[in-house]
Amino acid sequence: MRTRDYTRLLAELGQEYTALAPQSAALNGKAQQYMVDGGSHSLRLIPPFPPRIAAAHGAWLQDEDGRRLLDFWQGHFADILGHNPPVVTSVLAEAFESGFGLQTGFTDRLQVETAEIFCQRTGAERVRFTTSGTLATMYSIMLSRAFTGRNLVMKVGGGWHGAQPWALKGIDYDRKPGRGFERLESEGVPVAVTDQVVISGFNEPQRLREQFAQYGDQLACFIVEPFLGVGGFTPATREYLQTARELTQKHGTVLILDEVIAGFRFRAGNCGALYGIQPDLATFGKVMGGGMPVAAVGGRADILGLVGRAARSRVRFAGGTYAAHPASLLAAKTMMSYLVAHEAEIYPRLAELGAQTRQVAAQAFLDEGIYVHVTGHDPSALPGSSMFMLHFPFDETIPMRVPQDWLNPNACDLPLAHGVLDLALLVKGVFMLHSHGSLTMAHTPADIEQLGEAWRWAARRVKPIL
Ligand code: PMP
Repeated sequence: MRTRDYTRLLAELGQEYTALAPQSAALNGKAQQYMVDGGSHSLRLIPPFPPRIAAAHGAWLQDEDGRRLLDFWQGHFADILGHNPPVVTSVLAEAFESGFGLQTGFTDRLQVETAEIFCQRTGAERVRFTTSGTLATMYSIMLSRAFTGRNLVMKVGGGWHGAQPWALKGIDYDRKPGRGFERLESEGVPVAVTDQVVISGFNEPQRLREQFAQYGDQLACFIVEPFLGVGGFTPATREYLQTARELTQKHGTVLILDEVIAGFRFRAGNCGALYGIQPDLATFGKVMGGGMPVAAVGGRADILGLVGRAARSRVRFAGGTYAAHPASLLAAKTMMSYLVAHEAEIYPRLAELGAQTRQVAAQAFLDEGIYVHVTGHDPSALPGSSMFMLHFPFDETIPMRVPQDWLNPNACDLPLAHGVLDLALLVKGVFMLHSHGSLTMAHTPADIEQLGEAWRWAARRVKPIL
């Protein structure tokens, strides 16, 4: 591994940014008095301080200093039409005006209509709504364990399914020899849970075959993202997902596709359909919610039935004061309906913008003599992609195929991708976290050119250190 010292550059960029954003700096001081590190979600707290956002429209943010920031973070990739899309806000405003939206704790017509669209577009036989992707994955694992009567849960190294007990293992890569993804990611989680989590490899069908041969009959579920999100922005290969489907079927293991990022991102429905794969359960969130906190577990009627009266509610997928919240479901129904109605126009457009961005990224760094590997798409797996992520391998011969290639701090410059560039872009008026981003229908080719200029500027700033 090469050590590159970014301390001075970070200090310089921090000063330049502070001069541009005095209000956010001042608010940060106050925020620290009340919230740990000044916020409620660690990733958002970009050092030395995050911009405090006052308004957001489409591709753009406005901060407390009146700066306009071009945004590619887009609400943890939840926005597909940009921020505050009028398609959704107009419907919500009208509903609030008419006295519908903030009453919670009832059933209504809206739930039926939202469930109907959701099931039709995802192939789910049944759905249950909840409020976060994290809860959706946790419940789907509980369902799998109850359904199979087995204990073991398999996930992939680099897979992120929210911060819930079964998912807090094998997310970051430990550079110590022999550790890799075999690490716990949080204190406070019972070892009795994490001991039951087996780590596999993303896009490694052979490893999957070997692991299933060894203990497939003990596996309650295999949870995997069809498009690996936080772990590297790479779609699963067809062979890999098909192997996963075949093996889980053969061994009576529940296949959970975690579509919290992928759902409604690549088509107006589940991503699994693009692979010709129907999982036993699937989890959704982000895009489907239209900007509101909505998540869902969809899947086989017999498995989801375990939460029902006939099964005497064996799985307590219950509680949730705000589960199926009317304002949230109204946003979800509106968003899903819009995506269905405009599918033919939206997804090809997003794919074009994605391709342009990935190309601009590669060029911006190449022009400055910096080798970058850009992930986000694989044409053999998906027709197109609006996602992109930058990786900076120390060595151009690293194959950059699987998460351990780019999440290994010995192989890739993580401080550059996950810190230095975030701050440099912020100075140039672009918001992005950890060098990954997504396009929305609100972005234009000119926005992408502007992003390219910001990357170029950042590349020139870091070049002397490399
Ligand atoms: N699964 C995946 C694949 C995700 O990317 C995320 C969030 N980034 C989650 C689950 C958790 O969702 P939430 O943040 O809504 O709890």
